[in-house]
Amino acid sequence: DPLEEVGADKARVRVVVRVRPMNSRELERNDRTIIQMENDCSLMVQGAQHNRRFTFDSIFRNDSTQEDIFQNSGIKRLVDMSIEGYITTCFAYGQTGSGKTHTMIGPGGASVFRMDENYRIKHFGLVPRAINYLFQRLREKSQESHSPYYIRVSYCEIYNEQIHDLINPAHTQGLQVRGSVEDGFYVENLFQTYIETMDELLTILEEGELNRAMASHNLNDTSSRSHAMLSIQVEQDITESENSTEQMTRQGKLIFIDLAGSEKVKVSLSKGKQLTETNNINKSLLTLGTCISALSDPVKRAGHIPYRDSKLTRLLADSLGGHGITLMIACVSPSNSCESETLSTLRYANRAK
Ligand code: ADP
Ligand code: MG
Repeated sequence: DPLEEVGADKARVRVVVRVRPMNSRELERNDRTIIQMENDCSLMVQGAQHNRRFTFDSIFRNDSTQEDIFQNSGIKRLVDMSIEGYITTCFAYGQTGSGKTHTMIGPGGASVFRMDENYRIKHFGLVPRAINYLFQRLREKSQESHSPYYIRVSYCEIYNEQIHDLINPAHTQGLQVRGSVEDGFYVENLFQTYIETMDELLTILEEGELNRAMASHNLNDTSSRSHAMLSIQVEQDITESENSTEQMTRQGKLIFIDLAGSEKVKVSLSKGKQLTETNNINKSLLTLGTCISALSDPVKRAGHIPYRDSKLTRLLADSLGGHGITLMIACVSPSNSCESETLSTLRYANRAK
């Protein structure tokens, strides 16, 4: 177990925060910046009434670049572990407009793929950077060992507890989650496709975004209310030892989730209401928070984890509960106009670590 060196279960969930720059609306209004960095791991929220300090594994200031996030968020470790056969997950969490899609894919989402080379190199988000790194590592490894690798991708959206296939939207009716906590959950009949190049992945992300938009009249509405889940399965044929002829397939997975806007979840979280009182859109985020916080506590981890309470957490049960790492990127605005949403995001993130 590569995590043994770290020891604590805590290390299985890594939580980082990204503060975006003020947007033009916030600047025009002369909004005040309420987030003060204390150091790379600690920040102070200077609210209207109180100051509150939060500590995370890492905090990215509003001038941090996409490459900074890629190099220092811990995502490379997730990619490396997926190559070793682990199931790992990276989430972006935060209110609508806080920078989740910017961080995961790039500015303006998949439209970044249509820009020129120089722009893309600078602005690509975590997903294209991670895939580039994945391909690079796998190429190096297969040159050493002369064994092939395969990358299989699926892309779906969870909206109102219904799953839609974003690669093949035609057969999107009534997709069901099957499986068990022991054997892992999966979406039955979800389309999966092998990819060999980065461009093929970018095409999938672009088409997925279009399919996501077509399902609704308003892109912002869909993307703020649904979770987009990109699942990258890494398979390698490996030979156990030099004189063995037996072939094994090693399977790891890297999952990226651009979560629904957290503004729909705030009230229920802070009041600790029952999950059943909340609507389906909240349910996945609430359950996710409960599962992750239970998993990051060694005592609770041994007890009941309510994966079954939402589609999202069922699908992530083997990732969250297994030996992989979960990386949560909490995205926040620096503006005083977002104080309560920012506090609620930081509290949610804090509960996870
Ligand atoms: P979300 O997906 O959380 O709703 P977006 O990623 O769409 O939010 O971000 C909202 C807007 O703010 C977009 O125009 C995006 O490009 C911009 N933005 C977000 N984060 C940053 C950042 N770190 N630097 C510059 N612009 C950003
Ligand atoms: Mg978005």
